[in-house]
Amino acid sequence: MKKNIAVLRGDGVGKEVSKGAIEVLKTIGQQFGHEFHFQYGLIGGEAIDTEGTPLPQETVDVCKQSDAVLLGAVGGPKWDQNPAYLRPEKGLLQIRKALNLFANIRPVTTYNALTDISPLKQDIIEGVDFVIVRELTGGLYFGKPSGRSVDENGEETVVDTLQYKRSEMERIIYKAFEMAQTRRKKVTSVDKANVLESSRMWREVAEGISKEFPEVELEHMLVDNAAMQLIRYPKQFDVVVTENMFGDILSDEASMLTGSMGMLPSASLSSDGPSLYEPIHGSAPDIAGKNIANPIATILSAAMMLRLSFGMEKEAKAIERAVDQVISAGHRTADIQRAGKSPVQTTEIIDQIKAAL
Ligand code: ATP
Ligand code: MG
Repeated sequence: MKKNIAVLRGDGVGKEVSKGAIEVLKTIGQQFGHEFHFQYGLIGGEAIDTEGTPLPQETVDVCKQSDAVLLGAVGGPKWDQNPAYLRPEKGLLQIRKALNLFANIRPVTTYNALTDISPLKQDIIEGVDFVIVRELTGGLYFGKPSGRSVDENGEETVVDTLQYKRSEMERIIYKAFEMAQTRRKKVTSVDKANVLESSRMWREVAEGISKEFPEVELEHMLVDNAAMQLIRYPKQFDVVVTENMFGDILSDEASMLTGSMGMLPSASLSSDGPSLYEPIHGSAPDIAGKNIANPIATILSAAMMLRLSFGMEKEAKAIERAVDQVISAGHRTADIQRAGKSPVQTTEIIDQIKAAL
C-alpha cells in the first residue's frame, strides 16, 4: 500500500521521538512492501518563531492531504510568556479543530518487564490491557455561556457550561462499541448520572447503541467509582468511554499504571479526514536535546496509526512485539530505568527496536 504521512515534529523532545517513529515506519514499510511518504509541517513554538503563528495554513494543508498525521510534541519555556494566541499549545487546539478530531483513544497496557517501576503492586497491574475513549469536542471545555460576571448584589460570579448534542454522544459511544467488538467485548460507560442531566442522556444514548451490539456487554460506572476502580482492579476494564473532562482526568490517572509517560501512545480520530497520532507526553523541555527521552510512546503511536488508519494489524503487532522484546531484554531509557542501573539513549533504543523488527 501507498500512504502519505504528515509529520509535525514540534518542539523539545518532539523532534527526537518522532525521528524514532519515522525510522520504525520506514523499516516496517520495507519489510511488508508498503510505500510510506513523509511530508513535514511546522507546528508550535518553531512555527511561531519562523512563521509568526503556531499553526501555519501550509501545515493544515499538508495534514489534510495526508492519510494520517504523526505529531511529536509542542511547547517550551521560551514561549511560556507569550500572549494566548502565540502559545505553542494553541497550535494543538487549532489542528484538532481543523481536522475534526472527536475521539481521543488511549490504550493502557502494562509490560510485565516493567512492573518494578509501577507505583502499584505487581499482581494488580500484570496483564492490564484496556482502552480509554475520551470525547474531545464537547462538554465543559467548550459549552457556552462560560465566563465571569457580577450578580445583582455586586458579587463576582462565574459559570462554565457542560453542553452536548445527542449526535456528539452517539458518535463517540458508537466508536467505543466498535472497538470493544474487536477486543474483549465489554464497554464501561463512565458518567455522573446520579447528579448530572448530561450524564442521564449519556446513559440513554449508551443503552440505545448497545442494542446494535448484542454481543458486547455494557456496564455503567459513576466517575468517582471509576477513579477508584482504576487503581483497585484495573484488569476489569476493556473499553472505557466517557465525556471530555472525565476522560481527561481518568486517562492521566490510568497512564500511571505503566509507570512512565514515555511509554503511552494515543490516537485522535477524525470524523471525516486523516486522524492524528501522538505520544501522551509533552515536549519535556527539561530533558530535550540530551538524547535521553523515551521514544516508545511515539513509536507505539505509529503502530496505532497502522492499525486504525491503514488497517495494517500485522504490521502494528510487529512493532508492539519488537518494543516488548527490547524492554524484556532489559534495555531501558532513563525514565523507566531503576536507580543505580545505567540507561540506554534515545537513538540506541530506536536502533534496538529496529533490530528486533
Ligand atoms: P505539556 O504541558 O506539554 O503536556 P507537561 O508539563 O505535562 O507538558 P511533559 O513535557 O509531558 O510535561 O513532561 C512531564 C515530565 O515527564 C517531565 O519531567 C519530562 O521530562 C518527563 N517526560 C515526558 N516525556 C518523556 C519521555 N518521552 N521520556 C522521558 N521522560 C519524559
Ligand atoms: Mg501535560
